[in-house]
Amino acid sequence: MPLHPQDAPFDARDGWIWIDGEMLEWQQAKIHPLAHGLHYGSALFEGMRCYNSKIFKLDEHHQRLLDGMDLLGMEKPYTLEELNKAAIDVLAKNNITEGYVRPFAWRGSEMMAIAAQQTTTHVMIAAWFWPSYFSPELKTKGIRLKTTPWCKLHPESVPTQAKCSGFYVANTLSKHAAEAEGYHDCLMLDWQGNIAESSGANIFLVQNGELHTPIPVCFLDGITRRTIMDLAKQHGYKVTERTIHPDEFNQTQEVFLTGTAAEVTPVGQIDSHTFTPGEVTHRLMEAYSTLVRS
Ligand code: PMP
Repeated sequence: MPLHPQDAPFDARDGWIWIDGEMLEWQQAKIHPLAHGLHYGSALFEGMRCYNSKIFKLDEHHQRLLDGMDLLGMEKPYTLEELNKAAIDVLAKNNITEGYVRPFAWRGSEMMAIAAQQTTTHVMIAAWFWPSYFSPELKTKGIRLKTTPWCKLHPESVPTQAKCSGFYVANTLSKHAAEAEGYHDCLMLDWQGNIAESSGANIFLVQNGELHTPIPVCFLDGITRRTIMDLAKQHGYKVTERTIHPDEFNQTQEVFLTGTAAEVTPVGQIDSHTFTPGEVTHRLMEAYSTLVRS
């Protein structure tokens, strides 16, 4: 059964999920309620996209998952090759050729305490049809962002390069706050009030034909971010990673977000500042779209 209709609640869908080395029916894949990952946020996830039956940057995503296990001190039950094979098997079993793949790792329930040295690491991989994070119309006009009062975690408070579920609490609060005011997403600042990222994607500013993007200290150095920096350089654009204060929106012509789910998404408004998606954003959207399908 394919995973349609898309609007069915996730836990009511049909399909197959790879969990701890086994391919289980979607409804049979369960997590124990005493899992440390649920209680204390000691879990990691990835998001990958599959285009034309091929997962873009498969190794990079699974390597980040494995590196996250090291950063959180979790045991690593599978190798990169085993994870890659499982993801490919999940897509095949669910007949998905264009979709989203979600690997997830969490500490189990052997210990119920903050300390978790004896917990085993569980891993699951699910996949579903997910054409676009924002609607095609919004991707033309640009989405609207609202700056959130919640800032990103200080880099000395958590290992910010781990894509750890627990770190997403502020992102969810921020996205909810933005949506409650009619915006599509939030802009999150760092602890010093400088621009960081949106709830689930990195940010680029275009100023006089050059690209500027914040340094990934307190947020994820996204795989799409790095891909776009390479593509931009190949297209002859200068790219500068630096500290950027929101004051600079006054001297910015274009803004866009990058992420596996968001791909390249133009931004039309941040608070009271408006931007028009222009040549640089459009060229990079097209270059990215070509690359992921090549
Ligand atoms: N920042 C956050 C908070 C994210 O959740 C994501 C999506 N994984 C990104 C940035 C972009 O990362 P990537 O390009 O590796 O998907």
